[in-house]
Amino acid sequence: MNAEVLLELKDVRRSFMSGGSEVEILHGINLTVKQGEMVAIIGPSGSGKSTLMNIIGCLDTPTSGSYKVKGQDTIDLSPDELATLRRDFFGFIFQRYHLLGHLNAGENVQVPAIYAGVNHQKRVQRSLELLKALGLDHRVDYQPSQLSGGQQQRVSIARALMNGGQIILADEPTGALDTKSGAEVMKILKDLNAKGHTVIIVTHDPKVASIARRVIAIEDGAIKSDTINEANEDNTGKQADGIKINNRWSHTLSSQYDRFKEAFIMAVRAMIANRMRTLLTMLGIIIGIMAVVSVVALARGASEKVIENISSLGTNTITVYPGERMGDVRSARVRTLTPRDLNALDGQPFVDSVSASIQSSVLIRHSNLEFNGTVYGVSPDLFRVYGYTTAQGRLFTEAETKNYSQVCVVDHNTAENFFGSSDPIGQTILVNSMPVMIVGVLDIIDSPFMRSENLYVYMPYTSVMSRLYKQNYLSSIVVRIQDGFSTAVAERSIINLLISRHGRQDFFIQSSDTIMKSITSTTLTFTLLISAIAVISLVVGGIGVMNIMLVSVTERTREIGIRMAVGARQSDIMAQFLIEAVMVCLLGGAIGVIMSFGVGQLLSSLSESITMSFSLDSIIAAVLTSSAIGIGFGFMPARSAARLNPIEALARE
Ligand code: ADP
Ligand code: MG
Repeated sequence: MNAEVLLELKDVRRSFMSGGSEVEILHGINLTVKQGEMVAIIGPSGSGKSTLMNIIGCLDTPTSGSYKVKGQDTIDLSPDELATLRRDFFGFIFQRYHLLGHLNAGENVQVPAIYAGVNHQKRVQRSLELLKALGLDHRVDYQPSQLSGGQQQRVSIARALMNGGQIILADEPTGALDTKSGAEVMKILKDLNAKGHTVIIVTHDPKVASIARRVIAIEDGAIKSDTINEANEDNTGKQADGIKINNRWSHTLSSQYDRFKEAFIMAVRAMIANRMRTLLTMLGIIIGIMAVVSVVALARGASEKVIENISSLGTNTITVYPGERMGDVRSARVRTLTPRDLNALDGQPFVDSVSASIQSSVLIRHSNLEFNGTVYGVSPDLFRVYGYTTAQGRLFTEAETKNYSQVCVVDHNTAENFFGSSDPIGQTILVNSMPVMIVGVLDIIDSPFMRSENLYVYMPYTSVMSRLYKQNYLSSIVVRIQDGFSTAVAERSIINLLISRHGRQDFFIQSSDTIMKSITSTTLTFTLLISAIAVISLVVGGIGVMNIMLVSVTERTREIGIRMAVGARQSDIMAQFLIEAVMVCLLGGAIGVIMSFGVGQLLSSLSESITMSFSLDSIIAAVLTSSAIGIGFGFMPARSAARLNPIEALARE
């Protein structure tokens, strides 16, 4: 008989660390198994049968000695290469079936083919055929918990055959079954051998061993006898047809996609199976993302509103103030900003209009009422620059300005305080004892930025300067730039002009541009600050994800062991857990974003002055951050899952 030698063990030893010292369990096993043999390894409990079986199945490696599968030495193989051997040649049948609890019978059978890169349709078809051949076609959709022990063991046999199962390894396959189911399972194994599958059974039961042609007795880690039972059929050399499914495309792009898809589906199933845990894990991410997106939207909303208000003041205005900078205490003594500057500026080509402004606190009286207020001496242009309009009456005119007229326009507050609901137009009020006639009342300026409880009286600046204060200098000049001229250029020209007139720079200017820039940068600082806090909460959330994933790895150690036994590579396990971590985080991120929309709705329904402006940027950033957290914090648990030792993982209950 010159049948192909499939397995070859030479002086295989296996030691385990036990209580700090090495204990040798297998003492130099020499064994050759040929294609088509049916071998029973029999021995008392604790004699090392499972240890030997794990080495034969490439789940474990010998401490010393050599083990060849189809002539290939396994000693130097990497974990992934061992996984490939398991996947392509071996089919495992365990005493406790080791089916995946959250998959149905059909899906359990398909698992090895997923790792082999067989496409979905072929997988489903083959799993149905196998289950049908084992009399389980009516149980395809059942979960393992809904199946009897014998049925579960038949599902696991189908799984062992999924990738061909050239060598079937059964460790106490009948150990957990009643006599009848046990006999059925043994008959199936015998039939498989008759078809040309090489079958190796480990048992302590001589009755089970009696169906094998070759019986190897093992005692205390050494082979005691190796006999042939002539009563059983000899199938040595026989090779099962179609043992290999020749449609593996493990390295093509579409099989990569298929593997990814399967890992994705497995991750989703795991998430659904542990709904509560998944949700709790997500909570940190949800809160973190919600906080970031909401805060950024709030800050943006606020700054947009402020900018909108400023824009409504007239986009291209430059204001000149006396003094060296805002808040300069000496500015009150600077008296060089005069109506003549006003005229000089008015002659510039880039100027649309120039208005003067002089302001002061005053006492306003009418009949027996008196209030403190502010008087603004302005040019009529200023109303246009700031977009002020009248609710009643009119604005004062250029002519009235030229003539030092004692007329004024008052704000809504002033009109109300002095005249209540009666008509203020044509009435005379005393501003620091100077009688002034009211010609108009301004519209209420409705913006949180400009709202004021103060009383304002607007008069021609000429009247204020000559009649109220007898001063010839102004408190500010507002220049409106013509459309099409650059604010920056205009700024330079104004500065140069005024320096040449005053002999030095005793003024400073502020343009609507600079105000907007400073608001934008303030908002940015604020956003960055809050985002930093949010990032901390996201990191905390990420650590939560990591913890739960580590727990999940521990809880699912047996599942990982099963997957490895049927051919999952480290990268498959890694991908499954990483995808799960990323999914948890992404889903958490999505819920966080949706909830921040909810927060936006809620806040804007509570107060009109709060607006949230959601930007695509911050949402994209949120999504990227949550995936990064998933990958970052999922990596460690995923790696520890991938590095699990398959036999230790399988031993875990
Ligand atoms: P059998 O399957 O024949 O009942 P095993 O091969 O499972 O026996 O175990 C043989 C011996 O090896 C037992 O004494 C067991 O305690 C020991 N053993 C098996 N696996 C390990 C391990 N991972 N670490 C330490 N000792 C082990
Ligand atoms: Mg055992």
